[in-house]
Formats: sequence, structure tokens, C-alpha cells
Amino acid sequence: MSKIDHKPGADALAFLVDQHLSPTPENYTLAYMALADPGSPIGRMVEAFTSEGFRLRQSDADEIIRLHLTRSVRGAARQDRTQHDALRHQALKLGEAASSAAAATGAFARELSAEAGSFGEGETRTVEIVARMIERSQSTASDLDATASEVAALRLELETARDDAQRDQLTGLGNRRAIDRHLQRLSNKGSPRVVGLCDIDFFKSINDRYGHGVGDRVLKQVASSLSSACAPHFVGRWGGEEFLVVMESDDAAAGVALLDQARADLAKREFKLRENDQPMGQITFSGGVATATGDHADSIAAIHRADAALYRAKAEGRNRICSD
Ligand code: GH3
Ligand code: MG
Ligand code: MG
Repeated sequence: MSKIDHKPGADALAFLVDQHLSPTPENYTLAYMALADPGSPIGRMVEAFTSEGFRLRQSDADEIIRLHLTRSVRGAARQDRTQHDALRHQALKLGEAASSAAAATGAFARELSAEAGSFGEGETRTVEIVARMIERSQSTASDLDATASEVAALRLELETARDDAQRDQLTGLGNRRAIDRHLQRLSNKGSPRVVGLCDIDFFKSINDRYGHGVGDRVLKQVASSLSSACAPHFVGRWGGEEFLVVMESDDAAAGVALLDQARADLAKREFKLRENDQPMGQITFSGGVATATGDHADSIAAIHRADAALYRAKAEGRNRICSD
């Protein structure tokens, strides 16, 4: 049975976990290629960004991907198909190994009864039979072992793929499904929740002035600024230019303070057009905060109240946080 070497893939995933990067196909390809060939331009850039214990930020990774990986990333869809095939093949192999184990047991039972008459002839014959039995069961067991470990590794990859289904493709943050799951988990264990809804101010005008490509880049940067400022709390993309922060707490004032710090961090950043370094002006967001202590329906109600508070923050001049 041919063996698949899962180590490079597992190392690449471990690298992403270590660097706090989402396991998107682009990031995975970047990590895989940097680790496979540290002397390559990709490997050297990753090394330069991560030397002296620094973390590779998503914006750095994006830059390396833009410079070096566009062609490889185009191959990622192909790679996805290959992975799917590999999984299907593992399922087949597991079935084959299981039936060969059953066949081996059956064959041995038949052999045993056929040879039963010669047992009395002495130890040599018995040893031969036992040796044959051990040999057969060992090879079947090691086939099963190998297949089981391949299946375990593939299950890990499948979990990563499932994780992708809960991730917003553009920003790498959790999507609506992930937000829902997170809130559900917290209400299930009876934890109070502070929810903060953030909405970028005048975002439409960024699209209008610079185009949707620049708008997308701004969204990614706001997402990464917000998640660093709010870490270790949960930040997801609620939709469009809106993000939801969830704190496991009943302290609404602490939620307002957290969002206000994130707001100030973003407001002091200088955004420039990549093409010509032209400054884009300040980018800000407004936020609304509310608290839930009951079941999941209470979380949804709190998001509505946070939305009403956000509406007030907009009406009062934007670039501020209000609570319900
Ligand atoms: P306000 O301060 O009142 O929030 O104004 P706004 O312009 O931010 O709000 P509005 O709801 O009018 O516009 C939101 C815009 O966000 C409109 C939509 O085209 C844009 N948008 C939503 N999702 C994306 C996306 O994924 N990429 C880009 N580039 N734009 C997006
Ligand atoms: Mg909006
Ligand atoms: Mg907006």
C-alpha cells in the first residue's frame, strides 16, 4: 500500500496556527512553499518577516502572495480536487483493508481446520501454522494501522476545509455561520455576552472614489486591525462593511472601552493607495454595544439593540461607540 507523506502539510498548518494566520488556500500554499524551500525567494521573505520572533501578519503574507504566488494559487483549485480524490481513495483503502482482514481471518480458520489433523505430529507443524498466522495478521494489522493514520491526517485536513466554510473568504474572519456557532456555544454554557456591532463610516465613498479592489483591501485591513485590537475576543464579519465583536462578559462598559480603543487604533492609521502612495484620509468606524445573558434568542435581540445603538453613533456624528 502506498504511503502519503503528511508531514509537510501538517507542518504548514502548524506554521499557520503558530503565526495566527487563517488556513486559507493562499496562506496554506505560502506556508507549504516557504517550509519546503527555505532558500527560495518565498522562503527568504517569510524568514525575513518572522525572524527575531516576529509574527507574519496577514498583510505581509498578502504581499508575498501578490509578489510570488499568483501562479501557484491558481493551482490551488486543482490541489483541492486532488485532496478530494485522496480522501475518496483513503475510504476505499480502508474498506479494502477491512475486508482483507476478514478474509485473512476466514482463510486462517479454514487452514486451521484443514491442518488440525496434523497437530499431533509434533511441535514443528504447530509452530509453522502459528508463524503463518502471525505473519498474516501482522501484515493486515500494519495495513490497517497505516490506513488509519492516513485517515486521521486527512480528517484533520477535512476539518480545516470545514473551518473554511465558517470563514469569510475576503477577510479570513469568521462568517455569519461562525458568529452564530460562537454565540450558541456561549449561551449553551450559560456565559453572558457583550456584543459590539461595528460599521465602517462612509465606506461606499471609498468604493466610489477608488474602486472595489481598493475597497476590498481596506476591508481586509480594518478586519485585521479590529481583530488585533480586540484579541483575544471573537471578531467576525457580520456582512458587507460590518463586523461583530463578542466578549464573554456582562460588562457593557468594558465592551465600549474595548471597541473605543479599536476605533482609536484604526483612526490613527494612515491609509495610502498602494499604486501611488496617495493618502486616502482617515478611515473610521462607528459601533453599538449591548449585552445578553439569556439563551440564543437573547443574543439575537442584543445584536438588534447593538444595531440601534450603532444607528445613534452614526446620527451623532460617526467615529464613536454607543451602548444601549
Ligand atoms: P455609513 O457611514 O452610513 O455606514 O455609510 P456607508 O457608505 O459605509 O454605508 P452604506 O451602507 O451606504 O455602504 C456600504 C457599502 O459597502 C456598500 C457596498 O457596496 C459596500 N460593500 C459591501 N461589501 C463589500 C465588499 O465585500 N467589498 C467592497 N469593496 N465593498 C463592499
Ligand atoms: Mg453598513
Ligand atoms: Mg458603513
